[in-house]
Amino acid sequence: MDDDLVGADAGFSALGLRPELLRALSDLGYEEPTPIQREAIPPLLSGGDLVGQAATGTGKTAAFALPLLHGLSSGTSNDPGALVLVPTRELAEQVSQAVHRYGRELNVRVLPVYGGQPIQRQLRVLERGVDVVVGTPGRVLDHIERGTLRLDTISTVVLDEADEMLDMGFAEDIEAILAETPKERQTVLFSATMPPRIDAIARRHLRDPMRIRMGRDTAAADRLPKVRQSAYLVPRGHRMAALARVLDVETPTAAIVFCRTREEVDSVTEGLNGRGYRAEALHGGLSQDQRDRVMGRLRGGNTELLVATDVAARGLDVDLLTHVINYNLPTAPEAYVHRIGRVGRAGREGAAITLVEPREQRLLQAVERLTGQKVKPEQLPTVTDLRARRMELLLETMREAVGAEGLDRFRSVLASLTDDLDLEQIALAGLKLLHENSGGDVDETEIPLVEAPRERHRESRDREHGRGPRNQTSRPGQGVARVFVGLGRRAGLRPQDLVGAIAGEAGLQGRDVGAIQITDRFSLVEVPESAADRVIKALQNTAIRGRRPTVRRERFQR
Ligand code: AMP
Repeated sequence: MDDDLVGADAGFSALGLRPELLRALSDLGYEEPTPIQREAIPPLLSGGDLVGQAATGTGKTAAFALPLLHGLSSGTSNDPGALVLVPTRELAEQVSQAVHRYGRELNVRVLPVYGGQPIQRQLRVLERGVDVVVGTPGRVLDHIERGTLRLDTISTVVLDEADEMLDMGFAEDIEAILAETPKERQTVLFSATMPPRIDAIARRHLRDPMRIRMGRDTAAADRLPKVRQSAYLVPRGHRMAALARVLDVETPTAAIVFCRTREEVDSVTEGLNGRGYRAEALHGGLSQDQRDRVMGRLRGGNTELLVATDVAARGLDVDLLTHVINYNLPTAPEAYVHRIGRVGRAGREGAAITLVEPREQRLLQAVERLTGQKVKPEQLPTVTDLRARRMELLLETMREAVGAEGLDRFRSVLASLTDDLDLEQIALAGLKLLHENSGGDVDETEIPLVEAPRERHRESRDREHGRGPRNQTSRPGQGVARVFVGLGRRAGLRPQDLVGAIAGEAGLQGRDVGAIQITDRFSLVEVPESAADRVIKALQNTAIRGRRPTVRRERFQR
């Protein structure tokens, strides 16, 4: 019941968008509009001006892009029908990719224009004709002055991240650009904050705009459970590695990983299984029967991770979960509260962990405002932290074992070992074996550190001028991957069993399989890096000597 964020027919089709757009959204795995989309799309479709207060991550891009595409008559003119102004080159690319994705079935021609990109290419594309221009004010003005961009056919202008544009000194450029567009245009302004200067622009250039801001529903916050909340900063492009790192450090018994789209659910599930975790995707399209089966596997310990969208996780009976992990922050802060309400039930301990990119900080702040609780993003655990954590776990496991019953039956083994060996050495060897048996030092790639979020403005400006963000580069692949298989001599495993399984199930030739190392409890097999994921997936679904061992990538280089 408390999961009932929206009514049953609150999908995109209820907003009145044309079928081409609805199909594109469905292909992208968007299950329902975000709050800002639900509020902004209908008034924009009827042609009104709008001021929206919304941060990155709320779904604001689709909120203005969908109505803009809906009204576009593509191909009727070579001059653009819509202009989107954005503060940075990075955003210009992102927004233009989004417009392209949503408008795929409409064959919309989109052009990003920003400084630092060769102008010749932009000129050629402009000459051929475009429908939507997404650009930084400086470069757009440049084109207007050269006479290479004409704005008299523009029917919609969007000012995206208006506060950022003003911070970057684009106020005059924006004024000059707006003066070139027709008076009867539709004007849309989105801004994360609403300082008086933004209000002044809205008053001067927008006609009787509708004003919307992110919902401030505090009812959900009242039901906030007692959960340890934390957040980790992740660099762009390293989210999957960050998720794996967090899982390794947290070692949840059973966790749910929340994603924004079905597509993301699939790729995260695949990524996790490829790394040796046992993850199951929960889709909005699953029947109750299928959901029950997934839950059964979670209870039986055959699954440790559920990967789901907010919609798919509604109404789940999930008392046994220890962790909620936000692979992405939800597009609405209220959904965060619903998500973390999945753990910490019935007085149990629970943890909610969020992965956040520096540019998504504002969304996290919106969550903080709603919950009244601070969640300070920390740097991800490093490889050293991870190793220390593994040693800690080893310690705990050993202490527990020492206190447990059933040790006496090993006395005779110990007695014969102590005939010629030192007690300390025996204990050390025992610890080493235990460590190796629980996975050892796998997954040891360092994830680059992220710049402090306070430097966000400077970073954006650097991008506009073509300087990339400072980043360490990660190690390149070696061409050969080592695969860990949790089965060894004890189970009677022979090299030919592994070669047979790999050749039979993953379609590789025997000679493609490299060195094989079989220890008592586990084995390591070298395979071509290009086939590694396929081999891991195939072996995970194959019984080897009657068992289904853990199969995952081994990253530790000797
Ligand atoms: P934005 O706030 O526009 O930067 O969007 C943030 C992210 O949310 C983007 O990755 C979008 O692809 C995604 N997104 C936008 N709308 C939806 C939706 N209705 N359902 C799921 N994901 C969405």
